[in-house]
Amino acid sequence: MQTPTLLEMMTRLIGEPSVSCTLPEWDQSNLGVIELLASWLEPLGFQCEILPVPDYPGKANLVATRGSGDGGLVLAGHTDTVPFNAELWQSDPFTLTERDQRFYGLGSCDMKAFFALAIEAIKALDNSELNAPLIILATADEESSMSGARALANSGYPRARYAVVGEPTSLTPVRMHKGIMMESLRIKGRAGHSSNPALGASALDAMHSALGTLLSFRQELQENHQNSAFDVSVPTLNLGCVHGGDNPNRICGQCDLEYDLRPLPGMNIANLREEVDKRLAPIADQFGVELTHEPLFPGVPSFETAKTADLVATAERLTGQASKAVAFATEAPFLQSLGMETIVLGPGSINQAHQPDEYLAFDQIQPSIDLLQQLIQRYCLAPHKESS
Ligand SMILES: [Zn+2]
Repeated sequence: MQTPTLLEMMTRLIGEPSVSCTLPEWDQSNLGVIELLASWLEPLGFQCEILPVPDYPGKANLVATRGSGDGGLVLAGHTDTVPFNAELWQSDPFTLTERDQRFYGLGSCDMKAFFALAIEAIKALDNSELNAPLIILATADEESSMSGARALANSGYPRARYAVVGEPTSLTPVRMHKGIMMESLRIKGRAGHSSNPALGASALDAMHSALGTLLSFRQELQENHQNSAFDVSVPTLNLGCVHGGDNPNRICGQCDLEYDLRPLPGMNIANLREEVDKRLAPIADQFGVELTHEPLFPGVPSFETAKTADLVATAERLTGQASKAVAFATEAPFLQSLGMETIVLGPGSINQAHQPDEYLAFDQIQPSIDLLQQLIQRYCLAPHKESS
């Protein structure tokens, strides 16, 4: 089979719905996208493995490998998109539409088009043997649970020396982002008549103390951790919502809090959870309540690759852009945990992601193809010298 043109590939990818969402009414399988990619990569000499994501029916990762040996390069992206509001779009989100020197469509910049550009870059390779593997990695559920990348990290596969995550960075190399934790705190007290506090145990009184504890923990974190590479240079902790109680003349029996915490590179999610647990623990005895502190999802670790890393230096040289930090989280820390030197670098702007009328500007296309070819050349074709 002849590989379709870039335009055909983009049209087919955008036309294949693959929303992922923690709300079941939105959530869709990503197999259609995975199968399209495999059908184009196989004729180009790639061995395609479709790996179902354990416990997530209808979801799979694709690992497509050409060449073998040590080293090599992973070009990674996610196959899913966020949900959409069709009524706010000027054109059908699933129909690739050209307008104003841009391609519009759901997933045009975040980030199905990246796969089409990577395949376009690969098409130009001749049939000569690669001297290190080139791997196209397409994951599931990045926009919801990150179950795809998490499953790969747990299985220790795939592995190469370098990985580029093609999320929209306007072709600027990104070597740092914060992590994300979302946690819940449930306080169970005992309801009773408000006229006598001894008749109950107020979950709200205990929550008041817990909120104070979290705010002083936030202050402590911000005093001890700063990184000027980030626009918001400190770790943040946001008290997102509180629900509790029902009536002014009743002792509050239960109160729930959800908060998020965004750690800087170098801060560890498990340690942070432990620290919060330790600080909250005395509240249970003090107020005679039961405290349950739990993650709402496993969290995304913070991410950092050294400025001196070969891949960072190479990407800076090829793009002419200094590497930077971004505010959004990606699958990069999971790929890094597989032992790969990892950066985030891709076409399109994050400002257009997760928006109605998402688009990829035409002027991102040829530079992306050129850049991917140069990366493949350096890490899979040229006799590669380790940097000192
Ligand atoms: Zn994305």
